[in-house]
Amino acid sequence: MRTGSYLAGQWFHPSSTRTVRNLNPADPSDVIAEFPAASAADAVRAIEAAKAAVRGWRETPAPERGRVLWRAADIARRRAEEIAQTMTREEGKIIREARGEVTRGIAVLEYYAGAGFRIAGRTLPAEARDTFTYTIRRPLGVVGLITPWNFPWAIPVWKSAPALVAGNAVVLKPAELTPATAVILAEIYEEAGVPAGVFNLVVGSGGEVGSAIVDHPDVRAVSFTGSNAVGMALYARAAQRGAKVTCEMGGKNAVIVLPDANLEKAAAAIASGAFGSTGQRCTATSRVVAHPDIRGPLVEQLDALAAALKMGAGLDETTDLGPAVSADQLQTDLRYIGIATDEGARLVRGGRQHEALPGYFVEPTIFDQVAPGSRIFREEVFGPVLAVSTASSLAAALEIANGVEYGLAASIFTQDIDTALRFVEEAEVGMVHINEATVGGEAQLPFGGSKSTGVGEREMSEEGLHFFTELKTVFVNYGANGKPLSMR
Ligand code: ADP
Repeated sequence: MRTGSYLAGQWFHPSSTRTVRNLNPADPSDVIAEFPAASAADAVRAIEAAKAAVRGWRETPAPERGRVLWRAADIARRRAEEIAQTMTREEGKIIREARGEVTRGIAVLEYYAGAGFRIAGRTLPAEARDTFTYTIRRPLGVVGLITPWNFPWAIPVWKSAPALVAGNAVVLKPAELTPATAVILAEIYEEAGVPAGVFNLVVGSGGEVGSAIVDHPDVRAVSFTGSNAVGMALYARAAQRGAKVTCEMGGKNAVIVLPDANLEKAAAAIASGAFGSTGQRCTATSRVVAHPDIRGPLVEQLDALAAALKMGAGLDETTDLGPAVSADQLQTDLRYIGIATDEGARLVRGGRQHEALPGYFVEPTIFDQVAPGSRIFREEVFGPVLAVSTASSLAAALEIANGVEYGLAASIFTQDIDTALRFVEEAEVGMVHINEATVGGEAQLPFGGSKSTGVGEREMSEEGLHFFTELKTVFVNYGANGKPLSMR
């Protein structure tokens, strides 16, 4: 396994004696790698390497930069199974989900490969005579990417691909829990022909390496995904020095189920949204607001679906539900289960650690009769824990769904078009679903949320590319005479 620090086109041994231990959460005795932890000084070296390389990359024609990403997509396709297995081993998600994530990341590489032909400005009419005015999009320079552990492949890809095709040089700091997948990404970019210094990887702690990236004057933009507390603090710090920031910081995503819903479809979607990826998705379905007429049968169906889930190591093809990512996350899940019980919610299923398995396993857990104001209904758990509440009208359901600080995704199950479109209008989120789970994102679709979930531009899609560029407005005067003084 590589050292985890890749800068100026070389794998580099950080000087620190500390290490980042990369464990398998399904079996913590399985040590995947032990990376020497990079220090703040190593992060600065990576930023300097990026700065030295950015001019050559910026001057490479954008379609050519896109072709490098196209080659990266080809290499990723060749290494797909290895990427999926690495992810499952270090993050715990089941192998089917890991393969899906690899495919999604490849689509993102393909999308931004093509974007190399379409980094477009606009031509606009000028007030002045004999003047041609237009805009171009220019890269920002060095950009910092700070990523979480829950999508160790897709998130580093969906941040780095638009940054690279736009002509920036990148310093990526992956989460300490999942550095091995990021190491593969660095290898792929190297093989694809990303020039030395244009993509750099620094494995180390958030407090040290992350902070060094956020505070460095040469880092013109920071793209972050992670917790709200870290994201908001990072936003404030980067803003102080005028850097561009985008943060995606979690969710508490609700599904509203009305009496005219297809209940079977709703239950299947809610169960997969709540328990898929062990609930460790920022778009996970963590709340249900059900009409009293169908709440009982809906909860029964959810209970049956949860009961049928087979827990175990994600590398076993028959497993449905993997472990929490770490001992800390396991404790967080169990703590929230305790809080919900203390708050008077009715435990329908689960609620315990699965002690027979060696890793950090929590049973799929459902709480019913949850008060909308309670902590389990408002705070992000990031585990396989679902909370069900009731409301007897769309207006009441919307008030409950919107009554949290987060605003990432929401869904409604109904057959009525007026109700569905009213919900689209009123849901305070960045992504709305009708008759499906709250999860999902695609290369060509803007991803992100409102309120405490997101600041800055959406990710992926054209908006994701725009974040990594700045506009330049160009005035060209082709008249025989100069403009009158008053026009200047
Ligand atoms: P999570 O709960 O998903 O681990 P965090 O917000 O703690 O969310 O971490 C997301 C990313 O932010 C990780 O790569 C982490 O190392 C990094 N990080 C944590 N603290 C800081 C910080 N003070 N400055 C910059 N990055 C940080």
